[in-house]
Amino acid sequence: MGDRIAIIGGGIVGVAIARALVLRGFGDVTVFEKEDRLAAHQTGRNSGVVHAGLYYQPGTLKARLCAAGRISIRDYCAEKNLPYREVGKLVVAVDESELAALADIERRSLANGVPDLVRLDGLDPLREIEPSVAGIAAVHSPHTAAVDYGAITEAMAEDVRSHGGTILTGHEVVALHIEGQTVRVRTRESEYLVDRVIACAGLQSDVVAHLVGADPSPKILPFRGEYWALAAARTDLVRGMIYPVPDPRFPFLGVHFTRGVYDDVHVGPNAVPALAREGYTWLTVSPKDTWDSLRWPGAGTLAKQHWRMGLDEISGSLLKPLYYRKARRFIPELRMDDLTSKTAAGVRAQAWGRDGALLDDFAVDQVGPVTLLRNAPSPAATSSMAIADHLIEHYVFARTTD
Ligand SMILES: Cc1cc2nc3c(=O)[nH]c(=O)nc-3n(C[C@H](O)[C@H](O)[C@H](O)COP(=O)(O)OP(=O)(O)OC[C@H]3O[C@@H](n4cnc5c(N)ncnc54)[C@H](O)[C@@H]3O)c2cc1C
Repeated sequence: MGDRIAIIGGGIVGVAIARALVLRGFGDVTVFEKEDRLAAHQTGRNSGVVHAGLYYQPGTLKARLCAAGRISIRDYCAEKNLPYREVGKLVVAVDESELAALADIERRSLANGVPDLVRLDGLDPLREIEPSVAGIAAVHSPHTAAVDYGAITEAMAEDVRSHGGTILTGHEVVALHIEGQTVRVRTRESEYLVDRVIACAGLQSDVVAHLVGADPSPKILPFRGEYWALAAARTDLVRGMIYPVPDPRFPFLGVHFTRGVYDDVHVGPNAVPALAREGYTWLTVSPKDTWDSLRWPGAGTLAKQHWRMGLDEISGSLLKPLYYRKARRFIPELRMDDLTSKTAAGVRAQAWGRDGALLDDFAVDQVGPVTLLRNAPSPAATSSMAIADHLIEHYVFARTTD
C-alpha cells in the first residue's frame, strides 16, 4: 500500500502500531522518537505486569483491549523467545472495609472474562498462594504475568526494520502542518511529507495534540510512581504479585509487591504529582509544566476531591517509615531495612479533563489525517498490540476506504 505513515513516539504503543502496519503491507512507515533510544519513558519504567483485566469497567476499551492484548503479548513473547512468567496475582483485602470493593473487582473480572480467577476467604487459602501475606479475603488471577516491556519494544522495532519500516531515534517532532490530504512533519533536523500521522506521545500527547490545533482537553497530568527494591535475601517473602484492593475513586492500583521477570522483587509504585512531565525525582522541576497543571480549570475540583490521598502519598514518598507502614499491612514480617533502595521511578501520563476528572478509559482524537492517542495509561503496555489493531481498523483503514 502506498500510504506514507508517520508514528510519533517510540514507546511500546507507537512501535506496536508500526509493526502491525508493516506486517499488513504498509511499506512506508516511520517512527519518530525524540530520545536517543526506544522505551525511554513509561514503557521502560513500569511494573512489567501483563494484566489479566481484573479492574476495568466491562465493555470499555481498557477491558476489551487488555484481554486481547494479554494473549497477543503472551504469544509474541513465545514466538520471540522473550521472558514471560505467569507468576499470578493476589488482590488482598486486609480488613472488612475492603470486602465490598473486592467483590466489585470479582464481578468485573468475571464480566471481563479473566481466566481461572478464584475467590479466596480466610487466611489459610491466601497463605497457600503467598505464605507471608496477611489478609481476610482475596481474588487470585493465576495468569497475570511478568515481562520486560523494553525488550518487547526492541523486538517489535526489529520486526519493523526487517519489513522495510524506519525507526528514527533522536528525532523530536516539533511541528505538524496539515496540507489538504497530507501532513508535513517537521523535526529539529528536517521535514517529511506523509499521508497520515499517528501520535502516541505518552507524557507529551497533549503537547503533540496542540501542534495540530486539537482541543486542549484532555491535558496530561503527570503522576510519578516510585519503587523500592526488596533486599535480595528477602525476596522469598513474595512468590508472585501481591496487590491491595484499589480505591475505586482513583485510577491507580496502589503500592504492590511484584516479582519481576528477572526474579527481582519491587514494591510500589505510589502515585505523587510529578513536578515535570518527565520528572523522575522531586528534584526535577519544570515551572512551566507545574504552572500549566495548577491553572488548568479542573485543578481546584481535583484538589478538593483528592487532597487527603495526595498528602498521604506525598508524605509516604518523603518519609520511608510511612511507605514501609503501607507495605507492611500485606506482609507483617517485612522489616524496614528490607526495603533497600529507591529504584527507578516512572511517570504516568494520566489525562484529565477541564472538569478536573481523571479520564478512565483509553482516548483517541482525530484531526484530519492525524490520529492522536490522548490517554494510554496502564494497562496500555499489556494492551499495546490490541491498541495497534484497534487504531488501524477504526482509524487507518476507515480512512483508507473513505
Ligand atoms: C509507574 C508505572 C507503572 C506501570 N505499570 C504498568 C504495568 O505493569 N502494566 C501495563 O500494562 N502498563 C503499565 N504502565 C503503563 C504503561 O507503561 C503505559 O501505558 C505504556 O508504556 C504507554 O506506552 P506509550 O508508547 O503510549 O508511551 P511511552 O512509553 O511514554 O512512549 C511515548 C514516547 O513518545 C516520545 N515522544 C513524545 N513526544 C515526542 C515528540 N514530539 N517527537 C518524538 N517523540 C516523542 C517519548 O519520548 C516516548 O518515548 C505503567 C506506567 C507507569 C508510569
